Amino acid sequence: MYNGLHLSFWEPPAITTYRTRLTPEQIDHIDKTHIWHPYSSFSQSTPVFAVESASGVYIKLYNGQTLLDGMSSWWSTIHGYNPTYITQAVCEQAQNLSHIMFGGLTHEPAAYLTQQLVKLTPSGLEKVFYSDSGSVAVDVAMKMAIQYWQAKGQPAKSRIMALAKGYHGDSIGAMSVCDPVTGMHHLFKDTIKQQLFCAQPQSPFNGPFNPADLTDLKAKLEHHHHELAALIIEPVVQGAGGMHFYHPQFIAQAKTLCEDYNVLLIADEIATGFGRTGKLFACEHAAITPDIMCLGKTLTGGTMTLAATLCTNAIADTICQASPGVFMHGPTYMGNPLACTAASANIDLLLSSPWEDNITRIEHALTSGLAACKQLNSVNNVRVLGAIGVVELHDPVDMPTLQPLFVEEGIWIRPFGKLVYMMPAYTITNTQLATLTQGVYNVLTRYAARLGHQATPNQTPINQAPFDAHE
Ligand code: PMP
Repeated sequence: MYNGLHLSFWEPPAITTYRTRLTPEQIDHIDKTHIWHPYSSFSQSTPVFAVESASGVYIKLYNGQTLLDGMSSWWSTIHGYNPTYITQAVCEQAQNLSHIMFGGLTHEPAAYLTQQLVKLTPSGLEKVFYSDSGSVAVDVAMKMAIQYWQAKGQPAKSRIMALAKGYHGDSIGAMSVCDPVTGMHHLFKDTIKQQLFCAQPQSPFNGPFNPADLTDLKAKLEHHHHELAALIIEPVVQGAGGMHFYHPQFIAQAKTLCEDYNVLLIADEIATGFGRTGKLFACEHAAITPDIMCLGKTLTGGTMTLAATLCTNAIADTICQASPGVFMHGPTYMGNPLACTAASANIDLLLSSPWEDNITRIEHALTSGLAACKQLNSVNNVRVLGAIGVVELHDPVDMPTLQPLFVEEGIWIRPFGKLVYMMPAYTITNTQLATLTQGVYNVLTRYAARLGHQATPNQTPINQAPFDAHE
């Protein structure tokens, strides 16, 4: 069985010489007392498991347990954990240049990565802006679109339109284009800009395309184009808003409509980029080049935090030729050499692997392995696209009950809302996939039994943990 470049073999944890290590008890105490986790509370305890190390597709806990990973740490570790090739590249780079300010200075790792990104992404995306995280990459994209229209003498075009049930990040700017119902808008309504939302496309990825999907988009463009800078979409897969897969034809038509109405198209490929849906970038399913594209998550193969916002020459030239003559953003760690090196090594590793075969192989294994879940009364829908598998339940999950069951089963799955979903490393083997999908079935069976739900799905409300995770 192909397993990447033999990266999924267990490697012993690195020995740290520069300080003594905390004990598991100390970690637990400090964590409970001081550390925020994503979407967490200090007053409601949900289990947090301390990780000693991770290698390949396995996560090792301090209690000695080993978990087969189904999450790729939220879409990022596509080659598994600690891929030697990337780790070595980063270590080498660290001995030469770990960080340098990007204002007025440049370096080879940024130049090399930029060359790769411009070559790989849909043709026409020529300018690259680096930042630290996906949310910031989205903020940058929104600012690019707004500055573009200002530069063109149309400052009224300052709102962004997004799809209902979309998710684009947690910063104040990105949050404003997340779904207004599930996207925390009620908490921050006086702070975030009121954006515009159009209906979520319903045509399934593989089914026929229903042109009615475009009706609301077209109507909103017709009425609001004078105030719209851009439309932002997650191409093909809406992730944290509900793991919804939709028809590429919607994207192709949306691009044409945006052109007709003078509205830019931003493709948020932070989750879908680098092969996850079966194409290197999900926009390729629709054969379009967006005006602006956001990348993040697995840009570095899950080794460092880095994001990029790419745009066309037309956008960059317009911004740069009008007052103030510069694009107004500049993070401290912009173009960090270690992160750029990790990203280049990640791309090399991906392109030298049979990644397309792997995605097809994983898609088949998830489809057959998760089919049994359809028989469970608690399950509403099972769907698979590329290396993404989703089991949608009728009710939101009770995380304090469900999460430990996955750990007991020896697999790492982190559900949110009604969704039990997985997007494993591309290097996962078929045997490991069978273990993962069988584990999901076993856990859901035990979970239903524990909640006494087998016979009567949908009737007893489950204690809701609304989201972990818009991730
Ligand atoms: N856009 C999409 C489509 C995402 O899935 C995410 C991350 N969940 C983001 C943006 C935000 O990225 P980050 O968490 O790195 O800020």
